Amino acid sequence: MKPDIEIAREARKLPIAQVAARLGLSDADILPYGHDKAKIAHEVIAGLAGRPQGKLVLVTAINPTPAGEGKTTTTVGLGDALNRIGQRATVCIREASLGPNFGMKGGAAGGGMAQIVPMEDMNLHFTGDFHAVTSAHNLLSAMIDNHIHWGNALRIDPRRITWRRVMDMNDRALRQAVIGLGGPANGHPRESGFDITVASEVMAILCLASDLADLQARLGRIVIAETFDKTPVTAGDIGADGAMTVLLRDALQPNLVQTLENNPALVHGGPFANIAHGCNSVTATRTALALSDYVVTEAGFGADLGAEKFLDIKCRLAGLSPDAVVLVATVRALKMNGGVARADLGAENVAALQAGCANLGRHIENMRGFGLPVVVAINHFTTDTEAEIAALQDYCRTHGVRAVLCRHWAEGGAGAEDLARAVVEMSATHTNFAPLYPDEMPLWDKIETICKRIYRADHVEAAPGVCERLAAWQKAGYGHLPVCMAKTQYSFSADPKALGAPEGFMIPLREVRLAAGAGFVVAICGEIMTMPGLPREPAALRIGLDGQGQVQGLF
Ligand code: ADP
Ligand code: MG
Repeated sequence: MKPDIEIAREARKLPIAQVAARLGLSDADILPYGHDKAKIAHEVIAGLAGRPQGKLVLVTAINPTPAGEGKTTTTVGLGDALNRIGQRATVCIREASLGPNFGMKGGAAGGGMAQIVPMEDMNLHFTGDFHAVTSAHNLLSAMIDNHIHWGNALRIDPRRITWRRVMDMNDRALRQAVIGLGGPANGHPRESGFDITVASEVMAILCLASDLADLQARLGRIVIAETFDKTPVTAGDIGADGAMTVLLRDALQPNLVQTLENNPALVHGGPFANIAHGCNSVTATRTALALSDYVVTEAGFGADLGAEKFLDIKCRLAGLSPDAVVLVATVRALKMNGGVARADLGAENVAALQAGCANLGRHIENMRGFGLPVVVAINHFTTDTEAEIAALQDYCRTHGVRAVLCRHWAEGGAGAEDLARAVVEMSATHTNFAPLYPDEMPLWDKIETICKRIYRADHVEAAPGVCERLAAWQKAGYGHLPVCMAKTQYSFSADPKALGAPEGFMIPLREVRLAAGAGFVVAICGEIMTMPGLPREPAALRIGLDGQGQVQGLF
């Protein structure tokens, strides 16, 4: 197989207006960004209210390993396959963060013959949404320091400002900074720092807002600091919500692009999968549901984190109800979950695969616990042996779950037609979807419920002060919010090395954060990084333009 970037470059793309036409949209409904990208206009989206909705299919996976599972690749392949068997399907995925591409991350547009194009654009500046988020975020930052400079009428305690600055770059030198140095003309010195743009609460808000009015209301609710008597101060108090909404107006419109097979894809929003919910935007998903029979979308990380947040945060807040769950599993990743080292993945090892299936089994149980039908998509790698695939299929059969071998990475949509047929069949039956916990459950109980029921922890141990903060938010009227878990994606537990289906462990709850604008409380269990760094040999060293002005070395 050729590298992803070469396959993408050889794609025979349709002019974007023709892709829009496949969704029933006219030239006037879209705002083209060049030849192969467009935004869908706000007015069009508003006009879709009340339309019949297509079926919503969530693609999630077993716990990720460095061996790769291929959720995005499968999302794209399934979308193409559904179109091939005569359904009108749209793929909805997240936009990529620019900064990490220059470190070591792979692309975010799928892979092999199941990709979204133009992939270079999608992985770089795209339609400027992330720059808009960066600007809106930093406008609020500037207005906070300016408010203090001009007398601090709100009595903001500069030591209790939680709102930092953001940029879309991996830059560890900016994690902690002292700002306002240089005397009275330059503001008040205080400690602050930078996070990467995708970690901004503004990004999570953009992805959960239903329209411009809701966007502004959410921005206004962002808690940025406390006063000297510890009362929360919001972006609305600072008066920043209106101007931030102006900067985000265009960015709230979903981006239309296409798959290698010219099927529509909405690529929109990119919140972190740890301190945020890790799914594409509500506006994109709703727009796609109103314009297609099937919407295939992806949630970040494994099903314990990504799917749980998709279901308990995004679906709850947006009133969405999925029709089917596709659980991506690979022989390689299951063997790693069964104890095989990465270097030994090439050798057949049926026993390790069978041991690793415990991880798959627990995710299947969890998804069924939400009342949703599940199909396992075996994302085929050329190194998989027949005995290994047979053992995986056996496991699924004995656990009463359908498993479909898929070759979309090598063959495009044609390689995932069986999966598409399974999804159509499954989505025809009525689901009993219910989130894991009700809104009115207290915040602490929500965290415990996720840890015990989804991760299977024995108990949760909170660091000093955590319970007090939760109780204070409960009293202040935030108790109805869902919880956004930030935990290692590699394990059900908080220990990234405990693969498979660990039991008898404790989840340490280190810290809690209120994201009142986004509308959730973040529960941090373990180390999390909101500003990545570059590795010793960053990918940037290999990235450049070739003689024809084309990007080289990106993937
Ligand atoms: P995820 O969304 O789960 O993070 P991706 O779909 O982005 O995973 O895939 C991660 C990487 O693995 C990509 O570079 C992709 O090309 C590669 N990949 C996915 N499926 C296969 C496969 N079946 N064979 C070989 N490589 C694959
Ligand atoms: Mg992905």
